[in-house]
Amino acid sequence: MSSGIVTSAYIAASILFILSLGGLSHQESSRRGNIYGMIGMAIAIAATIASGAVHAYTTIIVMMVIGAVIGAFVASRVEMTQMPQLVAMLHSFVGLAATFVGYATYLDHTIELSGAEKTIHDVEIYLGVLIGAVTFTGSVVAFGKLQGVIGSKPMLLPGRHFLNGAIGIACIWLGAVFLGAESTLGGFVPLFVMTLLALAFGVHMVMAIGGADMPVVISMLNSYSGWAAAATGFMLSNDLLIVTGALVGSSGAILSYIMCRAMNRRFVAVIMGGFGTTAAASGDGEAREHTATTVDEVAEMLNEASSVIIVPGYGMAVAHAQHPVSDLTRLLRERDVNVRFAIHPVAGRMPGHMNVLLAEAKVPYDIVLEMDEINEDFASTDVVIVIGANDTVNPSALDDPGSPIAGMPVLEVWNAKTVIVSKRSMAVGYAGVENPLFFHDNTRMLFGDAKDSVEQLVAALKA
Ligand code: NDP
Repeated sequence: MSSGIVTSAYIAASILFILSLGGLSHQESSRRGNIYGMIGMAIAIAATIASGAVHAYTTIIVMMVIGAVIGAFVASRVEMTQMPQLVAMLHSFVGLAATFVGYATYLDHTIELSGAEKTIHDVEIYLGVLIGAVTFTGSVVAFGKLQGVIGSKPMLLPGRHFLNGAIGIACIWLGAVFLGAESTLGGFVPLFVMTLLALAFGVHMVMAIGGADMPVVISMLNSYSGWAAAATGFMLSNDLLIVTGALVGSSGAILSYIMCRAMNRRFVAVIMGGFGTTAAASGDGEAREHTATTVDEVAEMLNEASSVIIVPGYGMAVAHAQHPVSDLTRLLRERDVNVRFAIHPVAGRMPGHMNVLLAEAKVPYDIVLEMDEINEDFASTDVVIVIGANDTVNPSALDDPGSPIAGMPVLEVWNAKTVIVSKRSMAVGYAGVENPLFFHDNTRMLFGDAKDSVEQLVAALKA
C-alpha cells in the first residue's frame, strides 16, 4: 500500500480516536464513542499490516486470533465490579509491550543510525523501557490491590522517599552510561540494570499508595501506559501510535487531576503514598448507638415522602442491586415522588462506575446528578437512601481535621430529613474510616444485602 494511503488511514483513525474520547465523556454518546474507537482501531491495524512494516503475516494473524479469543472471553465474563482490575491488567500489558519493543529495537542490527539521530533513537528506547517497566509492575500491584490479593493498606519501607530519589538518580546516571556506550553489550548492561530498578520502583510506588487513592493510581497508570505507547511509536517510527499514546497519556493525566480534585488530594501527595496510615477510626472512643430500621418502616417513610435522593456506592455494584433500584425509582415516580440520584465522583471502584450501572438498569439520565449539581438539595429532601455507599457520605471528611479523608468533598446526605443507609453491617468502607453518619439521630440503618433489601422494599411498596 502506498505511504499516502497509509498516512490517510492513520489520520482517519486518529480522528476516530478523538471522536471516541469525546463520545465517552457523556452517557448518551458513550456507545457511539465506543463504536468510533472500534472502527478506528480496525483501520489502524489494517493500515499497519498493509503498510509493509509487517512481514510475518501468519504470526500476526495467529496472535490476533488468540488475543481476540482471550479478550472476548475475558470481557464477556468480567463483572462490572471487576472492571478496574481488568483495566489495571490491560495497562500492565501495554507496559510490558513497550519494554519488549524497547529491547527488540535496541538489539535490531538492521537499524543503522549515527550522530544525533542515534542519540535520539537511544533516548526513545531508554524512556520507552523505563516508563514501560514502571507501568508494568505498578499495574500488576494495582491489580493485586483491587482484586484483594494484596492488602489495600499502604506498605511503607523506611526511608522510602530517599529510596525513590536514589532510584531516580541511578536511572539518570545509567541513562548517561547507556547513551555513551560504544557497543551493543556496553549499552545493554545499563539498560538492563535500569529495567530492574524501574520494575522495583513500580512495585514500591504502588505498594505505598493506600486504598482510598486507588482511583487516582488507576488513571495515572492509564496515563503512563499512554506515554509508554507513545514512546513505542517513536521507536517504531509509527505516527499513529505516537498520536494514540499521547491521547491516552494526556486524557489519563487530566482524569487523574480531576479525580484528585474530587478527593481534595494533591497529585504529588498521592504519588508519594502513605495515605491511610493514620488511625482509621475517627471517633472519639465513645460507644455510640445506631438505630436500625426495617423494610416496612422504610416503605412507610417513602409513602409519606415527596422528594427522595438515592445515593449509590460500591455496595450497590457488588450486590447487583441496580435493577431493583431502577424498579423502586419507577414505582416512586409513578406516585409523583421527585426521585433523583446523587453520584459522587469516586463512588464505586472506578470513575463513572455508578453511571454505567444505572444506565444499564435503564434509570433515566436526567435524574442522575453529579455531586456539585445536587449537594445543596439534600436539605430540602424528605428521604435519602444510601445504597452500599460509605466513604463518599462520611461527614468526618468535612468536620474532623484529623480524619484520613479530611477535606475530601462528600455528599452531604445528613442534611436531609431522614437518611436510610442500606448495607450489611457497621463495617467501614474502602478507605477504612469509621462513618459517624451511621450514628446521627436522623439516620436509620437498613441491614442486609442491598439487592434483597431493595427488592423487599419494592414488594412492600406495591403491597
Ligand atoms: P465504600 O467502599 O466506601 O463503601 C461500600 C459499602 O458497601 C461498604 O461499607 C459495605 O458495607 C457496603 N456493601 C458491600 N457489599 C454490600 C452488599 N452486598 N449489600 C449492601 N452493602 C454492601 O464505597 P463508596 O462507593 O462510598 O466509596 C468508594 C470508595 O472506593 C472510596 O474510598 C474511593 O476512594 C474508593 N475507590 C474509588 C474508585 C473510583 O474510581 N471510583 C477506585 C478505587 C477505590 P458492609 O460491608 O457493611 O455491607
